[in-house]
Amino acid sequence: MERYDIAIVGAGPAGMTAALYALRAGKSVLLFEGESYGGQIVQSRLVENYPGAPAINGAELAMKMMEPLTEMGLSVTPLEIKSVSRAEDGFALTAADGTTYHARTVIVATGVGHRRLDVAGEERFIGRGISFCATCDGMFFRGREVAVVGGGNTAVQDALVLSEVCSRVYLIHRRDAFRAESHLVERMRANDRIEIITDTVVTEVQGNLRPESLLLCNVRTNETCTLPVAGVFLAVGNVARNEAFRGLIDLDEGGFVLTDADCKTSCAGVFAAGDCRQKKVRQLTTATADGTIAALSAVEFLEGRG
Ligand code: NAP
Repeated sequence: MERYDIAIVGAGPAGMTAALYALRAGKSVLLFEGESYGGQIVQSRLVENYPGAPAINGAELAMKMMEPLTEMGLSVTPLEIKSVSRAEDGFALTAADGTTYHARTVIVATGVGHRRLDVAGEERFIGRGISFCATCDGMFFRGREVAVVGGGNTAVQDALVLSEVCSRVYLIHRRDAFRAESHLVERMRANDRIEIITDTVVTEVQGNLRPESLLLCNVRTNETCTLPVAGVFLAVGNVARNEAFRGLIDLDEGGFVLTDADCKTSCAGVFAAGDCRQKKVRQLTTATADGTIAALSAVEFLEGRG
Protein backbone atom coordinates (compact mmCIF):
# COMPACT_ATOMS: atom_id res chain seq x y z
CA MET A 1 0.00 0.00 0.00
CA GLU A 2 1.40 3.35 -1.04
CA ARG A 3 1.27 5.96 1.69
CA TYR A 4 1.93 9.59 0.81
CA ASP A 5 3.32 12.15 3.25
CA ILE A 6 0.65 14.78 2.59
CA ALA A 7 -2.77 14.55 0.92
CA ILE A 8 -4.16 17.94 -0.01
CA VAL A 9 -7.90 18.09 -0.64
CA GLY A 10 -8.64 20.98 -3.00
CA ALA A 11 -6.46 22.61 -5.65
CA GLY A 12 -7.40 26.26 -5.27
CA PRO A 13 -4.78 28.85 -4.33
CA ALA A 14 -4.54 27.47 -0.76
CA GLY A 15 -4.10 23.86 -1.90
CA MET A 16 -1.67 24.74 -4.69
CA THR A 17 0.46 26.83 -2.34
CA ALA A 18 0.45 24.04 0.24
CA ALA A 19 1.59 21.63 -2.47
CA LEU A 20 4.41 23.98 -3.50
CA TYR A 21 5.79 24.21 0.04
CA ALA A 22 5.33 20.49 0.72
CA LEU A 23 7.15 19.49 -2.47
CA ARG A 24 9.95 21.95 -1.78
CA ALA A 25 10.32 20.33 1.66
CA GLY A 26 10.86 17.00 -0.11
CA LYS A 27 7.54 15.43 0.84
CA SER A 28 5.44 13.14 -1.33
CA VAL A 29 2.15 14.84 -2.16
CA LEU A 30 -1.30 13.93 -3.47
CA LEU A 31 -3.41 16.86 -4.64
CA PHE A 32 -7.12 16.11 -5.10
CA GLU A 33 -9.57 18.29 -6.99
CA GLY A 34 -13.11 17.34 -7.97
CA GLU A 35 -13.57 20.36 -10.26
CA SER A 36 -10.98 22.27 -12.26
CA TYR A 37 -7.91 23.47 -10.39
CA GLY A 38 -7.61 27.15 -9.47
CA GLY A 39 -10.64 27.54 -7.20
CA GLN A 40 -12.66 30.73 -7.24
CA ILE A 41 -10.02 32.86 -8.97
CA VAL A 42 -10.63 31.12 -12.29
CA GLN A 43 -14.02 32.88 -12.27
CA SER A 44 -12.37 36.27 -11.93
CA ARG A 45 -11.64 38.01 -15.19
CA LEU A 46 -9.17 40.33 -13.55
CA VAL A 47 -7.39 39.80 -10.23
CA GLU A 48 -6.18 43.23 -9.20
CA ASN A 49 -5.07 42.69 -5.63
CA TYR A 50 -2.42 39.96 -5.75
CA PRO A 51 0.91 41.62 -4.95
CA GLY A 52 3.42 41.43 -7.77
CA ALA A 53 0.87 40.33 -10.36
CA PRO A 54 -1.07 43.47 -11.21
CA ALA A 55 -4.31 43.03 -13.15
CA ILE A 56 -3.99 39.41 -14.25
CA ASN A 57 -6.72 37.14 -15.55
CA GLY A 58 -7.74 34.69 -12.79
CA ALA A 59 -7.45 31.55 -14.93
CA GLU A 60 -4.02 32.68 -16.11
CA LEU A 61 -2.90 33.25 -12.53
CA ALA A 62 -4.14 29.77 -11.59
CA MET A 63 -2.07 28.30 -14.45
CA LYS A 64 0.98 30.19 -13.23
CA MET A 65 0.42 28.77 -9.74
CA MET A 66 0.22 25.25 -11.17
CA GLU A 67 3.37 25.54 -13.30
CA PRO A 68 5.98 24.95 -10.55
CA LEU A 69 3.99 21.98 -9.25
CA THR A 70 3.98 20.38 -12.68
CA GLU A 71 7.70 21.07 -13.01
CA MET A 72 8.24 19.20 -9.73
CA GLY A 73 6.32 16.23 -11.12
CA LEU A 74 2.96 16.70 -9.40
CA SER A 75 -0.29 16.35 -11.29
CA VAL A 76 -3.75 16.92 -9.87
CA THR A 77 -5.69 13.77 -9.01
CA PRO A 78 -9.07 14.69 -10.52
CA LEU A 79 -11.28 13.20 -7.84
CA GLU A 80 -13.60 14.51 -5.19
CA ILE A 81 -12.83 13.14 -1.73
CA LYS A 82 -16.00 11.84 -0.11
CA SER A 83 -14.76 10.71 3.29
CA VAL A 84 -11.65 10.75 5.42
CA SER A 85 -10.95 8.54 8.42
CA ARG A 86 -8.07 7.62 10.68
CA ALA A 87 -6.03 4.68 9.48
CA GLU A 88 -2.83 2.98 10.59
CA ASP A 89 -0.06 5.62 10.67
CA GLY A 90 -2.24 8.30 9.10
CA PHE A 91 -5.48 8.68 7.24
CA ALA A 92 -7.55 6.92 4.59
CA LEU A 93 -9.20 9.13 2.00
CA THR A 94 -12.02 7.67 -0.08
CA ALA A 95 -12.73 9.28 -3.42
CA ALA A 96 -16.01 9.59 -5.30
CA ASP A 97 -15.05 6.62 -7.52
CA GLY A 98 -14.59 4.41 -4.43
CA THR A 99 -10.78 4.37 -4.54
CA THR A 100 -9.04 4.74 -1.19
CA TYR A 101 -5.76 6.62 -0.78
CA HIS A 102 -3.49 6.74 2.26
CA ALA A 103 -1.52 9.64 3.65
CA ARG A 104 0.28 10.39 6.90
CA THR A 105 -1.15 13.91 7.03
CA VAL A 106 -4.06 15.73 5.38
CA ILE A 107 -4.50 19.37 4.43
CA VAL A 108 -8.12 20.44 3.96
CA ALA A 109 -8.27 23.13 1.28
CA THR A 110 -11.79 22.60 0.04
CA GLY A 111 -12.66 26.27 -0.44
CA VAL A 112 -16.34 27.14 -0.45
CA GLY A 113 -19.47 26.51 -2.48
CA HIS A 114 -21.98 29.06 -3.78
CA ARG A 115 -24.80 30.09 -1.46
CA ARG A 116 -28.25 29.95 -3.02
CA LEU A 117 -31.26 32.17 -2.46
CA ASP A 118 -33.68 29.32 -1.72
CA VAL A 119 -36.53 30.96 -3.62
CA ALA A 120 -39.10 29.52 -6.00
CA GLY A 121 -37.78 28.87 -9.52
CA GLU A 122 -34.10 29.02 -8.53
CA GLU A 123 -33.29 25.31 -8.62
CA ARG A 124 -35.05 24.82 -11.97
CA PHE A 125 -33.04 27.50 -13.76
CA ILE A 126 -29.53 26.90 -12.37
CA GLY A 127 -27.40 26.27 -15.45
CA ARG A 128 -30.33 27.38 -17.66
CA GLY A 129 -30.20 31.13 -17.19
CA ILE A 130 -29.07 31.31 -13.58
CA SER A 131 -25.30 31.39 -13.26
CA PHE A 132 -22.68 31.81 -10.54
CA CYS A 133 -19.98 33.02 -12.94
CA ALA A 134 -20.28 36.26 -14.90
CA THR A 135 -16.88 35.78 -16.52
CA CYS A 136 -17.80 32.30 -17.77
CA ASP A 137 -21.42 32.90 -18.83
CA GLY A 138 -21.76 36.63 -19.48
CA MET A 139 -21.30 36.23 -23.24
CA PHE A 140 -24.50 34.17 -23.46
CA PHE A 141 -26.42 37.34 -22.53
CA ARG A 142 -24.86 39.72 -25.04
CA GLY A 143 -27.27 42.61 -25.69
CA ARG A 144 -29.78 41.32 -23.10
CA GLU A 145 -30.91 42.60 -19.72
CA VAL A 146 -29.64 40.64 -16.71
CA ALA A 147 -29.68 40.85 -12.93
CA VAL A 148 -26.90 40.32 -10.41
CA VAL A 149 -27.92 39.53 -6.83
CA GLY A 150 -25.62 40.43 -3.92
CA GLY A 151 -23.68 43.32 -2.43
CA GLY A 152 -20.15 41.94 -1.97
CA ASN A 153 -17.03 42.09 -4.13
CA THR A 154 -18.22 39.24 -6.34
CA ALA A 155 -21.58 40.89 -7.11
CA VAL A 156 -20.08 44.27 -7.92
CA GLN A 157 -17.29 42.77 -10.04
CA ASP A 158 -19.87 40.63 -11.84
CA ALA A 159 -22.04 43.68 -12.57
CA LEU A 160 -19.02 45.51 -14.01
CA VAL A 161 -18.02 42.55 -16.19
CA LEU A 162 -21.60 42.07 -17.45
CA SER A 163 -22.02 45.77 -18.22
CA GLU A 164 -19.52 45.31 -21.05
CA VAL A 165 -21.73 42.84 -22.93
CA CYS A 166 -25.28 43.26 -21.64
CA SER A 167 -27.59 46.11 -22.55
CA ARG A 168 -28.57 46.63 -18.91
CA VAL A 169 -27.48 45.14 -15.60
CA TYR A 170 -29.65 45.37 -12.49
CA LEU A 171 -27.70 44.96 -9.26
CA ILE A 172 -30.14 43.80 -6.60
CA HIS A 173 -28.97 44.06 -3.01
CA ARG A 174 -30.93 43.43 0.18
CA ARG A 175 -29.44 46.45 2.01
CA ASP A 176 -28.41 49.95 0.93
CA ALA A 177 -24.77 49.64 2.09
CA PHE A 178 -22.30 47.47 0.20
CA ARG A 179 -19.78 45.01 1.55
CA ALA A 180 -17.73 45.40 -1.63
CA GLU A 181 -14.57 47.52 -1.66
CA SER A 182 -15.47 51.19 -2.08
CA HIS A 183 -13.44 51.67 -5.25
CA LEU A 184 -15.44 48.90 -6.93
CA VAL A 185 -18.72 50.42 -5.73
CA GLU A 186 -17.65 53.81 -7.10
CA ARG A 187 -16.86 52.23 -10.47
CA MET A 188 -20.26 50.57 -10.47
CA ARG A 189 -22.11 53.77 -9.52
CA ALA A 190 -20.38 55.60 -12.38
CA ASN A 191 -21.45 52.96 -14.92
CA ASP A 192 -24.63 54.03 -16.69
CA ARG A 193 -25.45 50.50 -17.87
CA ILE A 194 -25.80 49.36 -14.24
CA GLU A 195 -28.97 50.14 -12.32
CA ILE A 196 -28.64 49.60 -8.58
CA ILE A 197 -31.73 48.38 -6.75
CA THR A 198 -31.19 48.39 -2.98
CA ASP A 199 -33.24 47.25 0.02
CA THR A 200 -34.71 44.61 -2.24
CA VAL A 201 -34.83 40.82 -2.27
CA VAL A 202 -35.68 38.34 -4.99
CA THR A 203 -38.67 36.22 -3.99
CA GLU A 204 -39.12 34.21 -7.20
CA VAL A 205 -37.44 33.51 -10.51
CA GLN A 206 -40.19 33.30 -13.12
CA GLY A 207 -40.15 31.87 -16.62
CA ASN A 208 -40.92 28.86 -18.76
CA LEU A 209 -37.82 27.25 -20.27
CA ARG A 210 -35.50 30.09 -19.18
CA PRO A 211 -35.82 32.90 -16.63
CA GLU A 212 -38.02 35.70 -17.95
CA SER A 213 -38.47 37.86 -14.88
CA LEU A 214 -37.77 38.24 -11.19
CA LEU A 215 -40.34 38.90 -8.53
CA LEU A 216 -38.84 41.52 -6.22
CA CYS A 217 -39.85 42.76 -2.80
CA ASN A 218 -38.69 45.99 -1.19
CA VAL A 219 -37.81 45.04 2.38
CA ARG A 220 -38.63 48.52 3.72
CA THR A 221 -41.99 49.10 2.07
CA ASN A 222 -43.02 45.47 1.33
CA GLU A 223 -43.92 46.62 -2.19
CA THR A 224 -43.48 43.98 -4.85
CA CYS A 225 -42.74 44.33 -8.54
CA THR A 226 -41.72 42.23 -11.54
CA LEU A 227 -38.41 42.85 -13.28
CA PRO A 228 -38.00 41.34 -16.77
CA VAL A 229 -34.50 39.83 -17.23
CA ALA A 230 -33.02 37.15 -19.47
CA GLY A 231 -30.35 35.98 -17.01
CA VAL A 232 -29.60 36.00 -13.31
CA PHE A 233 -26.16 35.95 -11.72
CA LEU A 234 -26.12 34.92 -8.08
CA ALA A 235 -23.34 36.35 -5.90
CA VAL A 236 -24.80 36.01 -2.42
CA GLY A 237 -21.77 34.60 -0.70
CA ASN A 238 -20.43 31.22 0.13
CA VAL A 239 -21.16 28.06 2.08
CA ALA A 240 -18.81 25.48 3.54
CA ARG A 241 -18.38 22.10 1.90
CA ASN A 242 -16.53 20.07 4.47
CA GLU A 243 -18.95 17.17 4.93
CA ALA A 244 -16.21 14.66 4.08
CA PHE A 245 -14.41 15.68 7.27
CA ARG A 246 -17.37 15.78 9.67
CA GLY A 247 -16.61 13.61 12.70
CA LEU A 248 -12.85 13.71 12.07
CA ILE A 249 -12.23 17.40 12.76
CA ASP A 250 -14.19 20.11 14.57
CA LEU A 251 -16.33 22.33 12.34
CA ASP A 252 -18.27 25.43 13.36
CA GLU A 253 -22.06 25.65 13.07
CA GLY A 254 -21.70 26.79 9.44
CA GLY A 255 -19.46 23.81 8.60
CA PHE A 256 -16.20 25.80 8.42
CA VAL A 257 -13.05 24.16 9.85
CA LEU A 258 -11.85 25.34 13.26
CA THR A 259 -8.07 25.78 13.36
CA ASP A 260 -5.42 27.47 15.42
CA ALA A 261 -2.97 30.06 14.07
CA ASP A 262 -0.76 27.26 12.69
CA CYS A 263 -3.68 25.90 10.63
CA LYS A 264 -3.89 22.83 12.91
CA THR A 265 -7.34 21.30 13.29
CA SER A 266 -8.71 19.42 16.30
CA CYS A 267 -7.21 16.19 14.89
CA ALA A 268 -3.41 15.76 15.03
CA GLY A 269 -2.07 15.39 11.50
CA VAL A 270 -4.97 17.21 9.82
CA PHE A 271 -4.51 20.86 8.83
CA ALA A 272 -6.76 23.31 7.00
CA ALA A 273 -6.02 26.23 4.69
CA GLY A 274 -7.93 28.91 2.83
CA ASP A 275 -11.60 29.76 2.63
CA CYS A 276 -12.70 26.42 4.15
CA ARG A 277 -11.46 27.62 7.56
CA GLN A 278 -13.52 29.65 9.98
CA LYS A 279 -12.03 33.10 9.40
CA LYS A 280 -12.99 36.70 8.78
CA VAL A 281 -10.91 37.64 5.73
CA ARG A 282 -11.29 35.39 2.69
CA GLN A 283 -8.91 36.72 0.05
CA LEU A 284 -6.44 35.23 -2.41
CA THR A 285 -3.57 36.54 -0.29
CA THR A 286 -4.94 34.95 2.89
CA ALA A 287 -5.55 31.65 1.07
CA THR A 288 -1.95 31.43 -0.15
CA ALA A 289 -0.68 32.47 3.30
CA ASP A 290 -2.74 29.67 4.87
CA GLY A 291 -1.43 27.18 2.30
CA THR A 292 2.11 28.05 3.33
CA ILE A 293 1.37 27.73 7.05
CA ALA A 294 -0.58 24.48 6.72
CA ALA A 295 2.14 22.85 4.61
CA LEU A 296 4.96 23.88 6.95
CA SER A 297 2.92 22.72 9.96
CA ALA A 298 2.40 19.36 8.23
CA VAL A 299 6.13 19.11 7.49
CA GLU A 300 6.93 19.82 11.16
CA PHE A 301 4.43 17.15 12.20
CA LEU A 302 5.94 14.59 9.81
CA GLU A 303 9.43 15.34 11.07
CA GLY A 304 8.35 15.01 14.69
CA ARG A 305 8.77 18.71 15.42
CA GLY A 306 5.09 19.71 15.42
P1 NAP B 1 -19.83 38.15 0.50
O1 NAP B 1 -18.77 39.14 0.70
O2 NAP B 1 -20.18 37.23 1.62
O3 NAP B 1 -21.13 38.94 0.05
C1 NAP B 1 -22.32 38.25 -0.14
C2 NAP B 1 -23.41 39.29 -0.43
O4 NAP B 1 -24.62 38.59 -0.65
C3 NAP B 1 -23.63 40.25 0.72
O5 NAP B 1 -23.79 41.55 0.23
C4 NAP B 1 -24.90 39.73 1.37
O6 NAP B 1 -25.70 40.75 1.87
C5 NAP B 1 -25.61 39.10 0.20
N1 NAP B 1 -26.44 37.98 0.63
C6 NAP B 1 -26.12 36.92 1.38
N2 NAP B 1 -27.15 36.08 1.52
C7 NAP B 1 -28.17 36.63 0.84
C8 NAP B 1 -29.51 36.25 0.59
N3 NAP B 1 -30.00 35.11 1.09
N4 NAP B 1 -30.27 37.06 -0.16
C9 NAP B 1 -29.80 38.20 -0.67
N5 NAP B 1 -28.53 38.62 -0.49
C10 NAP B 1 -27.73 37.84 0.25
O7 NAP B 1 -19.54 37.19 -0.76
P2 NAP B 1 -18.63 37.44 -2.06
O8 NAP B 1 -18.90 38.76 -2.65
O9 NAP B 1 -18.81 36.24 -2.91
O10 NAP B 1 -17.19 37.43 -1.48
C11 NAP B 1 -16.72 36.29 -0.74
C12 NAP B 1 -15.30 36.57 -0.22
O11 NAP B 1 -14.42 36.63 -1.34
C13 NAP B 1 -15.22 37.93 0.49
O12 NAP B 1 -14.29 37.80 1.53
C14 NAP B 1 -14.71 38.84 -0.59
O13 NAP B 1 -14.01 39.97 -0.10
C15 NAP B 1 -13.80 37.90 -1.37
N6 NAP B 1 -13.68 38.37 -2.76
C16 NAP B 1 -12.73 39.31 -3.01
C17 NAP B 1 -12.60 39.84 -4.26
C18 NAP B 1 -11.58 40.91 -4.46
O14 NAP B 1 -10.76 41.12 -3.62
N7 NAP B 1 -11.59 41.65 -5.53
C19 NAP B 1 -13.43 39.42 -5.31
C20 NAP B 1 -14.40 38.47 -5.04
C21 NAP B 1 -14.53 37.96 -3.74
P3 NAP B 1 -25.28 41.55 3.22
O15 NAP B 1 -24.20 42.49 2.79
O16 NAP B 1 -26.55 42.22 3.61
O17 NAP B 1 -24.84 40.52 4.20
